[in-house]
Amino acid sequence: MYLRFMLRSLPQQRIPIRTISQVAGNPINRIEPARSVRGTHDRFGIENEKFTHIQKIGTSIAKLYCFEQISTPILEFSQVFERTLGSESDIVGKELYSFIDHDDKLTLRPEGTAGIVRALISNNMDRDLPKRFYYHGPMFRRERPQKGRLRQFEQFGIEMFGYENPTSDIEIIEMAWAFLNKIDTDTSFELEINSLADVESRAHYREVVKDYLSQNASRLSSDSVKRISTNPLRVLDSKNPEDIPIIQNCPSITEFYNTISAERFNAVCQGLQKLEIPYKINPRLVRGLDYYEDTVFEFKCTDSRLGASQGTVLAGGRYDNLVQLMGGKEKVPGIGWAAGLNRLAAILRDDIVVRERPIAVVIIQDRDKVILSAGNYSTSNNMMFYCYGLKISKVLRSHNIKTIFFHIPNANHSSLKTILANVVKTNASHAILVGEKEIMNDKVILKDLDLRIQNEYKLEDITN
Ligand code: ATP
Ligand code: MG
Repeated sequence: MYLRFMLRSLPQQRIPIRTISQVAGNPINRIEPARSVRGTHDRFGIENEKFTHIQKIGTSIAKLYCFEQISTPILEFSQVFERTLGSESDIVGKELYSFIDHDDKLTLRPEGTAGIVRALISNNMDRDLPKRFYYHGPMFRRERPQKGRLRQFEQFGIEMFGYENPTSDIEIIEMAWAFLNKIDTDTSFELEINSLADVESRAHYREVVKDYLSQNASRLSSDSVKRISTNPLRVLDSKNPEDIPIIQNCPSITEFYNTISAERFNAVCQGLQKLEIPYKINPRLVRGLDYYEDTVFEFKCTDSRLGASQGTVLAGGRYDNLVQLMGGKEKVPGIGWAAGLNRLAAILRDDIVVRERPIAVVIIQDRDKVILSAGNYSTSNNMMFYCYGLKISKVLRSHNIKTIFFHIPNANHSSLKTILANVVKTNASHAILVGEKEIMNDKVILKDLDLRIQNEYKLEDITN
């Protein structure tokens, strides 16, 4: 009692997870239940199946468009991201998970492109162009967790190196459109595109934006005010409500395109029209990373399930200077996109995932509906029956029949009715019941769990 009082009066603090021996030595201590890290999410059941479903569609589309898979490490040297994403970007400024490992500064990748460009250079693939890659895996950003915004989330993406022609922009946007349309959701997607133009046009625009923002600095968020002198274009990507009205009235980049940039963007738009892909030009779309230039685009879904600022499900753009920025010898044009799998899974229809129904193998004592427990392992014959059931399961599985074997606890005296109720919960279509009599006659009982009828069969007749 006194101890309980003492514990209650202690200030709230994190109780470390104790080892088993510590607990065994002090049975009064209760272990605090293990928790997950903020912004991370356990995926299981139908949600996991939805992920797999979307990944499969992504993979089949990628193969159809002749992309090959690339897998790069989650851990990279921090400079892979710090050098490329832009020191003023939210990701580098405040969202990287970085740590010192002996003398190295390492980072958990916040996105896929920079690591793939690093791999292109490290493996001399920049001398063997063109290259078309697809990838999927987890990314890490220390964002404020919300619906559709996690600290560990998954992306499916593609990168294409060695093509500078606007036809490559059109092809990958068309590919993204095909991918999204193949995923059955109840919602529709809107494509927004813009051109950030070439370095020359952008430098001009940058000065204009800087002047405009300076004139409106008193109405901007403090983060955006800091960026006016360092990276004014980043302000246009701000999601801060204070900044939105100012951003909306900012001069548009469209007016500052030089002839090359204007013609290039025009060619991309014309191509999309030819391919009948609906789009909207959003002249204020700048994307969150500094390496983009010329074409940038985002697919947004209008579904309220994703929340107001988490509607973008797929985004990308061109990055023709990134390879050199990371130490590549030659200029290698690049373009790509990444889709957020967590957001796509959240809007995927439940009935899309078809679960193949298993066959359940249940050992019974006899037809009097008594379930046989495994009994005492060393003396009991029952183990023999169980192994016979496992053997049947093995045979069924070798015929590619999804099978769930029912392990009954040692001292179980449940009725067959109770067990069958549990079998039904597994979504099994049939149960195979095996008792002593069946084993003797080399037969099994096959019970149709939907129609509730049962018949005796030879095992090979079932597998056939
Ligand atoms: P947002 O504007 O929503 O923050 P972003 O521009 O930062 O997205 P990208 O870096 O382009 O996103 O990543 C591509 C896609 O990955 C996004 O469109 C989104 O679907 C998904 N994504 C990005 N960040 C997260 C996150 N924190 N949690 C879940 N999905 C994310
Ligand atoms: Mg973001």
